[in-house]
Amino acid sequence: RAKTEGKGTYRFFEAAMGAQIRERRSLEHDLRSAIANGELSLAYQPQAQVDTGEVNGFEVLLRWNHPTRGPVSPSTFIPIAEESGSILKIGEWVMHEACREAANWMRPLAIAVNVSALQLTSDGFVEFVRRTLEDTGLPPERLEIEITETALIRDPNRALLTLQKLKAIGVNLAMDDFGTGYSSLSNLRAFPFDKIKIDRSFIHEVHDNPQAAAIVRAVLGLGRGLGLPVIAEGVETSEELSFLGSEGCTEAQGYLFGRPAPIGEFVPLLSNNVVALPKPLLRAVGD
Ligand code: C2E
Ligand code: MG
Ligand code: MG
Ligand code: MG
Repeated sequence: RAKTEGKGTYRFFEAAMGAQIRERRSLEHDLRSAIANGELSLAYQPQAQVDTGEVNGFEVLLRWNHPTRGPVSPSTFIPIAEESGSILKIGEWVMHEACREAANWMRPLAIAVNVSALQLTSDGFVEFVRRTLEDTGLPPERLEIEITETALIRDPNRALLTLQKLKAIGVNLAMDDFGTGYSSLSNLRAFPFDKIKIDRSFIHEVHDNPQAAAIVRAVLGLGRGLGLPVIAEGVETSEELSFLGSEGCTEAQGYLFGRPAPIGEFVPLLSNNVVALPKPLLRAVGD
């Protein structure tokens, strides 16, 4: 009996996997024409000072509005784009759009762009970034490139060389999703990062998980020790924000300050007269 049941379960998984593979192939295929069809767009999410709500910059997050499926999550399509190689073209599009947009702002805010492993280690990446900055007129120090640890592990020597070249042209580097990858501590020493982004999975749990709170404290201590600013990702509540403030975290990003949205929604922040986010929430800090 167990044998036939096992067989049935196996067939069930086999069928489910087949469907998954077809789904991936179909997304992979559709992604190839996504740029040309105008299906990709950029969402911007503010990064703000914990104590004042003053905005320092924005992270750019790619959005795909599929013609029949509607919005597809980056956590679904980015891995597919990485595997198929289409992330190279898409990544160039993102970088160019983001720099062009940021170069037009009245305030010299920072623009953070996510770059995947394949892009980072592809031929001519640094030259592409340099040319994009030149074409758009964005000063290099306003561009921050976000890289996860996983992206460094694929080819660490090549990644290091690329990061050093990016530093040499004046671009800033942030380690994304810190705490979720491997051997985080040695990577911070081995690679020339300017900033640490604490992964949102820890922030999310600071109030009901003492271990998450301990990890956040430790990362903040690490940042102080290494002289690297730390930004907290995924801050959703004023409780999380006040915890971060009391632990000495100076910068945060998350739904509390604003969801990723088309840049048009942030127009007041891009002009000269409004520098901070509207903030009934910030009064909670230090209460
Ligand atoms: P990430 O770079 O760590 O980006 C942060 C993610 O957290 C974004 O998800 C953002 O929408 C989400 N987030 C921000 N604040 C909050 C919050 O308060 N609560 C919660 N629950 N989530 C929050 P998103 O936009 O779905 O992107 C997922 C990942 O896809 C990104 O993680 C990044 O690794 C990747 N990605 C997005 N755009 C690009 C891109 O242009 N190029 C590359 N290579 N990867 C990208
Ligand atoms: Mg990021
Ligand atoms: Mg992240
Ligand atoms: Mg991530």
